[in-house]
Amino acid sequence: MSKIKVKTPLVELDGDEMTRVIWKEIKDKFIHPFLDIELEYYDLGVEYRDKTDDKVTVDSANAILKHGVGVKCATITPNADRVKEYSLKKEWPSPNGTIRSILDGTVFRKPITINNIPSAVRSWKKPISIGRHAYGDIYRNVEMIIPEAGKVELVYTDANGNVKDKVTVQDFKSSGVVMGMHNIEKSIDSFAKSCFNYALSEKMPIWFATKDTISKKYHAKFRKIFDDLAVAKKAELDAAGIYYGYYLIDDAVAQIMKHEGGMLWALMNYDGDVMSDMVASGFGSLGLMTSVLVSPEGKYEYEAAHGTVTRHYRKYQKGETTSTNSVASIFAWTGAIAKRGELDNTPDVVDFAKKVEKAVIDTIEGGEMTKDLISLSTAPNKKELNTVQFMDAVVKRLK
Ligand code: NAP
Ligand code: MG
Repeated sequence: MSKIKVKTPLVELDGDEMTRVIWKEIKDKFIHPFLDIELEYYDLGVEYRDKTDDKVTVDSANAILKHGVGVKCATITPNADRVKEYSLKKEWPSPNGTIRSILDGTVFRKPITINNIPSAVRSWKKPISIGRHAYGDIYRNVEMIIPEAGKVELVYTDANGNVKDKVTVQDFKSSGVVMGMHNIEKSIDSFAKSCFNYALSEKMPIWFATKDTISKKYHAKFRKIFDDLAVAKKAELDAAGIYYGYYLIDDAVAQIMKHEGGMLWALMNYDGDVMSDMVASGFGSLGLMTSVLVSPEGKYEYEAAHGTVTRHYRKYQKGETTSTNSVASIFAWTGAIAKRGELDNTPDVVDFAKKVEKAVIDTIEGGEMTKDLISLSTAPNKKELNTVQFMDAVVKRLK
């Protein structure tokens, strides 16, 4: 069988623990036998990050900026225990955080929906993607405890030291609490652009929700940026057959529970934090949740939403069999390969990625799955497979 040629190099970011084990299996079983592909490899395993003083992480992000598409394995974000375990020089920052800030990107999470794995919400039939703004608001706030009566003011002093605006937050008659938050127009702008890039790329309508009836300047600023971009992008949205809709956050929450799904739900930082966990648990397993980082310039990094699955890795280290679900990691690869094919204008590459995805879904719908899905699935004859057996079952179908 002749291999399918991928024109442009794909940036590969290797990772840690159980997902690193799965990573190699995916390449050996699904990638190298079928594709003639140049992988620009970066080892983001925690030991090599330590060895390079984390330079490898920065290099990998720059490679994604250069080539346009990357695929990333889950990585350890070291804490004090990890520093000891791997004798690290220090607690290196989260690679995802480093890459996100270099790409100035937004993370979108999308569940893989499978016929015999019903979601907890009866009406949800299609995936709901969540785009969460990842800068500012309550996550960069300042707070004060107010011990007794007194006045709190919000003051804006310009760069020349002139007071330009002042409002009273509260004239306290007794003790209380107060908080200051901010956001930056450039960051909101990048977020909105990434959301439109993602929705156009996935052909999903965009829902954006805030509370601009109450917050007439702060939330309204977010809304205006999204509304204006929707006007500017109207021709592209029309061509893709998708719409942009603005909703009040409480209205969006109520509507989403009755909707069949299939939209990108763009949310401010706090709302996205809360709603992404709700939507993820509604769709079932972490092993079925994919994630993609999209930059405002249209650069893409695909990964699984879950971590390195340390508990399973401890069993693997002892030589025991594992039940780790490889589906989200496989879809990280197929997502990246399909995007590569789309950007290179090579439909056979896109088609290959879709065939792998179909083989994965057919395998599960045929009743073969890992332990995490067994209790969720309504398939009549369910068969539990271990990590490697499941991948082999998919390969068999693919061939
Ligand atoms: P985790 O790796 O997501 O695993 C948490 C638990 O979720 C697992 O123990 C397992 O439950 C279940 N699970 C997750 N993925 C699964 C899969 N593919 N198949 C089957 N079950 C799955 O989170 P964690 O244990 O909190 O974190 C481990 C490491 O990952 C940490 O060092 C953290 O820094 C890192 N992390 C990295 C990323 C990233 O790179 N994007 C994201 C999150 C965490 P059972 O044990 O009950 O089977
Ligand atoms: Mg959360």
